[in-house]
Amino acid sequence: MSAKIIANRIQNIKPSATMSVSMKAAELIAAGHKIIRLSTGEPDFDTPEYIKEQAINAINNGETKYTAVDGTVKLKQAIADKFAKDNDLYYELNNILVSCGGKQSIFNLMQTIISAGDEVLIPAPYWVSYPDMAILADGIPKIINSDIENKFKINANQLEESITAKTKLFIINSPSNPSGQSYSKEELEQFAAVLRKHPHVYILSDDLYEHIRFDNQNFYNIAMVAPDLKERIIIVNGVSKAYAMTGWRIGYAAGNTEIIKNMKKLQSQSTSNPCSISQTAAVAALTHDKEYVNKMVAAFNKRHELIITEINKTQYLKAIPSNGTFYSFFSVKELIQAHNDKFDNDIDIANFFLTEANVALVPGSAFGTPGYMRLSFASSEEDLQTALQSIKNSIAKLN
Ligand code: PLP
Repeated sequence: MSAKIIANRIQNIKPSATMSVSMKAAELIAAGHKIIRLSTGEPDFDTPEYIKEQAINAINNGETKYTAVDGTVKLKQAIADKFAKDNDLYYELNNILVSCGGKQSIFNLMQTIISAGDEVLIPAPYWVSYPDMAILADGIPKIINSDIENKFKINANQLEESITAKTKLFIINSPSNPSGQSYSKEELEQFAAVLRKHPHVYILSDDLYEHIRFDNQNFYNIAMVAPDLKERIIIVNGVSKAYAMTGWRIGYAAGNTEIIKNMKKLQSQSTSNPCSISQTAAVAALTHDKEYVNKMVAAFNKRHELIITEINKTQYLKAIPSNGTFYSFFSVKELIQAHNDKFDNDIDIANFFLTEANVALVPGSAFGTPGYMRLSFASSEEDLQTALQSIKNSIAKLN
């Protein structure tokens, strides 16, 4: 296809890196290879029955029409109640926008507040879509680096040094995809102290993994520790990860009325409301007890212990415990170094694991942090055991 057909805005971005690994794995599977995919970003559990039932009732009750662009009153009320109960944060319904996934909420936010040349501060490793969404909004992604030594977290000094007159948005994703690490209350307070000095900077708190934590610590986001900054904080959350509802596409944003109103305006000219049936299902998810969520998290926790132990028993690999999510972001730097005749970087290692160990992982470069690999443990313990053994064997064969 001639490059001229495609607009500059699309030529400037790349397809989601995690999706391209999954596609390559899918090709190998189609060609008859038995690949264990530890590259996916979704729970392997099914959506709970009580949620499905409400969706079926919604269809039978004729809840099949357009809803308000920003979501039904019932769902927005359930979201406001969730914030009050889980986070001690109080929002009116006009502070809330329901979107087709947290992804659309984040996209809407960037389109709504970023102007040409505005800088978006993104700590790496980052969720793959942040930089491209900033670029699509004519913004400039500014990456703040971290590595395993600082538990993949940036500090307040790095934040301070990165802020300029052009900084518009700072993104916090805790617990983080891909690192699984979360910021403590004290660390968030230190960020808040810096941000108080720079009133032109807005903050996106991406809380998608709020409920998937295994460190027994309370969850904090920056709005909870710095209520005085609440007008500048936009929280994005959703039902995808906590309730195993990735395909239902419901996420939401909460923030100041002016920003939310304009995000809604944008959404009214793109997708309009998210799926009416999914909205009813999301009400069921948010208002039900958390028994199913807790069961899922307990399973993730068990697998987490298994994989951290096994990775660290494997020659050249190094992992640190995650605070939450279903990811481990482990170092392959020593492996690259030990076999630098074969490997230049983490992408070579991802290809090696895919072809020699039949395991699909995502290279750290996709998340802005080369030298690492993201392993998703949203797979059965059996598959995880097999995959890790196979990785071990493939490395042993190199020696
Ligand atoms: N934020 C993070 C950190 C994610 O990992 C994801 C999904 O992978 C999203 C946002 C978007 O999730 P969804 O659009 O399914 O709500």
